[in-house]
Amino acid sequence: MKLTTLPSEFQRALPILEKIKVAGFEAYFVGGSVRDAILGRPIHDVDIATSSYPEETKQIFPRTVDIGIEHGTVLVLADDDEYEVTTFRTEDVYVDYRRPSGVTFVRSLDEDLLRRDFTVNAFALDETGTVVDLFGGLMDLDNRLLRAVGVPAERFQEDALRIMRGFRFVASLGFTLEPATFGAMAELAPLLEKISVERVFIEFDKLLTAPFWQAGLTSLIASCAYDFLPDMAEKGAELETLRDDFANGYQFTSSEQAWAALLLALNIRDVKPFLKKWKTSNDFQKAVDQLVSAYRERLSAEPSRQLVYRYGKDCLLLVEDLRQAKGLSSQPALIQQLDEELPIHSKQDMAITGRDLIQDFGLTPGPQLGDILDELERSIVAGEVGNEREEVWEWVITKL
Ligand code: ATP
Ligand code: MG
Repeated sequence: MKLTTLPSEFQRALPILEKIKVAGFEAYFVGGSVRDAILGRPIHDVDIATSSYPEETKQIFPRTVDIGIEHGTVLVLADDDEYEVTTFRTEDVYVDYRRPSGVTFVRSLDEDLLRRDFTVNAFALDETGTVVDLFGGLMDLDNRLLRAVGVPAERFQEDALRIMRGFRFVASLGFTLEPATFGAMAELAPLLEKISVERVFIEFDKLLTAPFWQAGLTSLIASCAYDFLPDMAEKGAELETLRDDFANGYQFTSSEQAWAALLLALNIRDVKPFLKKWKTSNDFQKAVDQLVSAYRERLSAEPSRQLVYRYGKDCLLLVEDLRQAKGLSSQPALIQQLDEELPIHSKQDMAITGRDLIQDFGLTPGPQLGDILDELERSIVAGEVGNEREEVWEWVITKL
């Protein structure tokens, strides 16, 4: 097969291929970008594979960065772009079903393509637009099938992360898993427990935020692979609820929102310990926690100034978006309006601080001071007390 016109992303990168070839080596575009180009999907990260060894690649280009020399990857800096140029390689014996004990650089494209996970991810594209397809990937693209390269069970045993990647590509491409590939994924799913949680998180997160996440989840549920994900054992019914509660085709707008929806469906009370098991950042845990709390509060209350003040407009708009997708009433315009009406957005905006109360009224730090400040904050947000020094001052006097 030949692409009649190379997408502009590849055209911009052609000089890189040409320079490598002039130096006497082979070079191809590889990986997801080739798949996406054939499908006519938007392209990100143009990856290049070459027969030149990393040291040789570095001699060809004046500006390079060592970003993964031990895996054969050199970052080549072009005018405004950068490209990962990776030496053809095979992977040595796999240890613990995860990373290979090492990689071996080879001079043959075919061997490099053999180590890739799915047939539709194992294309190479040359400078003339000719697609190298060793495993029937083009036919699989036509049939919208995800098929492991080679013997599926062997490939998932080598690297069990490929099991999660399989579900993830169902979600991003909307493809179906070829039955033998799916069978091996389901059978070997217990190996997922051997994979680092961080790597599994990345794939599951990509699954949840992809356009066909409901289909990805359906495959994951059918395989029972969730039994081997952190704190998700025996949660098949809850995952079905997550899938079915949302309008068909709805897509989450952020990771935080997707994980909030997941936690709500799993009926998890304590958000942070769950997300700690997934080894997510503190910021992520905090944002999801806020969304889950706001969602739960909103179940029994209409939007109010206090609610918008407490959680912030952005968080509540994401909550309204979830509600709408679930067929519940949603009031984004009201939240916008309430936010505009808010006299203050945080404690720092208050006309008087705790220090003022101590200095000017002789109050001492303690519960009374805290109570007055809290009540003042609420009253200012409600519009009962204007946020000006004099008005606040008079209000404080009535409280003493
Ligand atoms: P996306 O468009 O989401 O980036 P992608 O296909 O480019 O999808 P990447 O994770 O960026 O996926 O990986 C780039 C390529 O490297 C894949 O297309 C595949 O050929 C190969 N690859 C990545 N991870 C693995 C793995 N665990 N096992 C085998 N091959 C892999
Ligand atoms: Mg990629």
